[in-house]
Amino acid sequence: MRQFRKLKIAGSNPVRGFMAKQIWYGRCIFLSWYCDLGTCKFCFRSTIKHKIKHAKHAKRSLASLIVETLLCKNLGWRIEFLTGGYGIFPFKDIVKIAKIISQIYGEKIWINLGALKPEELEQLRPYVKGIVASIETVNQDLHNQVCPDKPIEPYSQMLKTAQGFQKSITIVIGLGEKPEHIEELHQFIKEHNLDRITFYALKPVKGTPYTKGPETNYYAEWIKKTREKFPKLQIIAGTTALRYQEVGTLIKAGANAFTKFPATKLFNSPQAKSIEKQIKPLGNFTSTLTKLPKINWQKQINDLNIEKDLKEQVKITLNNYLKKMKLAEQWR
Ligand code: SF4
Repeated sequence: MRQFRKLKIAGSNPVRGFMAKQIWYGRCIFLSWYCDLGTCKFCFRSTIKHKIKHAKHAKRSLASLIVETLLCKNLGWRIEFLTGGYGIFPFKDIVKIAKIISQIYGEKIWINLGALKPEELEQLRPYVKGIVASIETVNQDLHNQVCPDKPIEPYSQMLKTAQGFQKSITIVIGLGEKPEHIEELHQFIKEHNLDRITFYALKPVKGTPYTKGPETNYYAEWIKKTREKFPKLQIIAGTTALRYQEVGTLIKAGANAFTKFPATKLFNSPQAKSIEKQIKPLGNFTSTLTKLPKINWQKQINDLNIEKDLKEQVKITLNNYLKKMKLAEQWR
């Protein structure tokens, strides 16, 4: 892995006066686990194992999407975006789901659903405030190698032509990029007038050519340099169950939030507690990974504007989630 020349993360980014930095956990809501494209070299969805495990038309139930939304709403998790594999849901179903999720969450949401056409964006507009393009890397040569069937151009066009939406991209660090490619990234951010960016550290997946993720300092340096160049840009940093110890470093480097941590599975776990401890001195954490608030879930579900049968399914699914999360609470 090539290194930036200067790797030290400067400063401790202390909380100053009354303007404590807001830090939050961002939760992706997945529509399905399968991807019709499935050819990006680093992605777990490109592996044979994943394709066997997740049938092509296996979709998540609406009940479980609603449960995730309720958890986001009540635990202070921001919906990072609604996403899912390519070509799984008919578009009218995606619009319906975006509508339900935004109504339950109480605000418009972000989506990351491929390079959408203008007429598709219009249908989503009442429920969507921001669009995300999964660029992965802006270096054209590397992109051609890593994502051979997902060209940058349609995404670039969508970002340039969509009016009235906030705009964001996702970038994976560790794909084989060089430190000097950061200039290309910054040019892309400027050219497309982005409001947000989500960085991920490559997660090496068995069955792909990748065996190692980036070093923390190298990953953080991309965030730090981007923060220096774009003081107002919202920066989200991906982490995992294994990389949780670097969350504080990523926030110090300039990230506003972190995502990809398996928060329900590891609710109130030692990893979740460690993250909260790391970021406590750095700002005001507006989400929780450790404390289930006392909520009348039954009432919340009964109050939802959805069909009765669906409410019953939501209750059962939520109960399963909460059982697991409460069990996790016993880890103390
Ligand atoms: S399009 Fe997205 S989900 Fe599909 S293989 Fe590529 S990175 Fe993975």
